[in-house]
Amino acid sequence: MAANPAAYSSQSFDWAALAAPGVQGLVPYTPGKPIGELARELGLTDIVKLASNENPLGASPHAIAAAQRALQECALYPDGGGFELKAALAARHRVDPDCITLGNGSNDVLNMVARAFLGPGGSAVYSEHAFAVYPIATQAAGAEGRVAPAHAYGHDPAAMLAAIDASTRVVFIANPNNPTGTWLSAAALRDFLTDLPRGVLAVVDEAYFEYVDEPDYPDCTRWLGEFPQLIVTRTFSKAFGLAGLRIGYALCAPAIAELLNRVRSPFNVNALAQQAAQAALDDATHLARSMAVNRDGLAELQAGCVKRGLSFIPSAGNFLCIHMNRPAGPVYERLLRAGVIVRPVANYGLPQHLRVTVGLPQQNARFLAALDVALEAELAGP
Ligand SMILES: *Cc1c(COP(=O)(O)O)cnc(C)c1O
Repeated sequence: MAANPAAYSSQSFDWAALAAPGVQGLVPYTPGKPIGELARELGLTDIVKLASNENPLGASPHAIAAAQRALQECALYPDGGGFELKAALAARHRVDPDCITLGNGSNDVLNMVARAFLGPGGSAVYSEHAFAVYPIATQAAGAEGRVAPAHAYGHDPAAMLAAIDASTRVVFIANPNNPTGTWLSAAALRDFLTDLPRGVLAVVDEAYFEYVDEPDYPDCTRWLGEFPQLIVTRTFSKAFGLAGLRIGYALCAPAIAELLNRVRSPFNVNALAQQAAQAALDDATHLARSMAVNRDGLAELQAGCVKRGLSFIPSAGNFLCIHMNRPAGPVYERLLRAGVIVRPVANYGLPQHLRVTVGLPQQNARFLAALDVALEAELAGP
């Protein structure tokens, strides 16, 4: 008899009881709502998505051309070692290629860290309001997640140090953090790394590195020689505009990279992504434009909030976490009906905030106009 999914579900077997202990309590990652999904649900055609911190300018045209060329060879496996891209990244960061681990997005690298260093009996420390992938990667590996209380929505290094104990193998720090946009200064992060017990790895996630315009913000890739337990992650998903191709990387000591490589899936980074990433790295003009669009757009959004009497968490990224002065869920729903997708962050312990990605000028204006209508309607009652 052919397999019938309905027959399986009617057996009411407790499959969850068979899952690995860490998986039983896991809540899956909630991504930003895709444009196609909102279009299907509400029959809308004119939709702006400011929900996943993507680059509103898109990818570099050179990166797209490189991916198109790579497509011609898609019958072949990609270079599983990523030789050429690693060489380009090594030159750029002035490290040995052995220090580099390529990932299918930097998420993949975060999972490799968890699989290589976290397991039952181990723990990882991360901050309240920190990026949701850290608890998922930790728990999926069977380890315990320790949440350090935040300070002013941002990472509190002292609280993170205090949460470390003999079981702790990894601390995750997003600098800047998503969804809050908060960042640690060079001095604060350097002190933290100096005080970190030996044998605890520090993952500094620099997904938004290219956007940061703060004078005291550190480039932790420069500290790799000094702090042997440091793992710095970067991604091509944000400023480089390649989120759909899934590619990111980690920089760390070769001995740590060798361990990450043991748990890496073979051919984890596809050939299109490798070629596009290399072309994107070389397109300084597109990157500079992306940074300029973000700087101006972030200022527009911030000014829009001030004008409306809405507070926001100061952000160093390409997004702004705005306080709605009321439960944010209904405002989010109203924005959806106006064709504007932003990101609710109640799952991050921020039930009155919405996170808005910086868009092009007309997208930012459309968000602010839709927000006015939504907030007015909320004031008027249901
Ligand atoms: C977006 C993001 C990433 C990058 O994810 P990819 O898997 O590289 O697309 C990593 N860390 C943080 C904090 C992010 O916001």
